Amino acid sequence: MGSGGLRVVGPGTPVVARAHAKINLALRVGGLRPDRSHELVTVFETVSLPEDVRASPSRGLECAVQGEGAEHVPVDETNLAVRAALLLAERAGVPPRVRLDITKTVPVAGGMAGGSADAAAALVACDALWGTGLAREDLLALGGELGADVPFAILGGTAVGTGRGEQVVPALARGERSWVLALSATGLSTPAVYGELDRQRGAEGRAAADAALDVDEASVHELLQALRAGETAAVGAALVNDLQAPALALAPHLAQTLRVGLKAGATAALVSGSGPTTAFLVDGREQGLAVAVALAASGAAADVRRVSGPVHGARVVDVGR
Ligand code: ATP
Repeated sequence: MGSGGLRVVGPGTPVVARAHAKINLALRVGGLRPDRSHELVTVFETVSLPEDVRASPSRGLECAVQGEGAEHVPVDETNLAVRAALLLAERAGVPPRVRLDITKTVPVAGGMAGGSADAAAALVACDALWGTGLAREDLLALGGELGADVPFAILGGTAVGTGRGEQVVPALARGERSWVLALSATGLSTPAVYGELDRQRGAEGRAAADAALDVDEASVHELLQALRAGETAAVGAALVNDLQAPALALAPHLAQTLRVGLKAGATAALVSGSGPTTAFLVDGREQGLAVAVALAASGAAADVRRVSGPVHGARVVDVGR
C-alpha cells in the first residue's frame, strides 16, 4: 500500500483518542436525589481544548500525565482514565494491560470536565487497542458509571443533559460559537460549590427544590431556540448557571473577572460549570481579541484561552505511533 493509503490496524496497535473540554451554556440545578447527587438539566457544548489519551500495549496498567496542570493529576487508580480502563477491561472480560499517556490542555479542577474527557478518551482508546468493539450506547453507559460528565465527553457537540447530566441527547445547534476563557490560578472543588448552593438556598429553598426534584426543562427552552437559530446575541441572553452565585461566593474575585470581560465588549459571560473558569461569548475575531487582551492585561485572569465550539466527541485521532 502506498504511503498515502490506509494502514491496516488491529488490536494491539497503539492508538490516540481525543476528547474535549465542555462549557455549560445552561445549568439548572434541582433537588437532591436519594444518592445525594443533584437532579439537573444542562445544555453543554464541547470546545476546542483537547485531551489526548494514547493507549499502548503494556504488561500491566501504567499511567503518565503531561501538559496543563499535570502535577495536580494522580496517576494511580483514582485517575479517571485509569478507572475507565479498569471498568472496560472488567466488563469486556479482558486483562487490563495498557499504558495510558495523557496529554492535558484542560485546566485541572477548572469546571470544564477535563478528567471526564480523559475517561471518555481512555474508553475509546482502550476499546480500539483491545479490540473489544463496544457499541456507542455501551460506551455511553460505561461512561455514566464513571462520572456524570463522561457520556457527554463521549458524545460531544451540543447536547441536553438530564438526571445527573449523564443522560445526554444531541441538541440542534447552528453555526460555531467563539469563546474566551479566563483561567484561575487555583481550582474550585465541585462538591464545595454544590454545598454552598444548598447553604444559599436555605432550608425552605432546599425543601422546595427536593419537592420539585426535576428541573423544568422549559427553563432551557429559550436557549435551545437560540441555538437552533444560531443567533449569538440570543444565545448570550439565554446563558444561565445556577452554580454561578455559589461559585462567586467562594471565589469573589471572579465577579471582577466577569466585569472586565463584559466591559471589553463580550456578548455575555458566565462561570463555567462549578468554576472557577469563566467563559465569555464573543461575536467575531476582533471582539475576541479585545476581550482576551483586556482579561490578560487586567490581571483578572491567570491565563486566557480563545476557543470555539462545538467540536467532536471522543474518537480515535491517530493509530500506530
Ligand atoms: P468536575 O466538575 O467533574 O469535578 P473539573 O473540570 O472541575 O470537573 P477535573 O479537572 O476534571 O475538574 O478533575 C477534578 C479532580 O479530579 C482533580 O483535582 C484531580 O485530583 C482528579 N482527577 C482524577 N483524574 C483526573 C484526570 N485524568 N484529569 C484531571 N483530574 C483528575
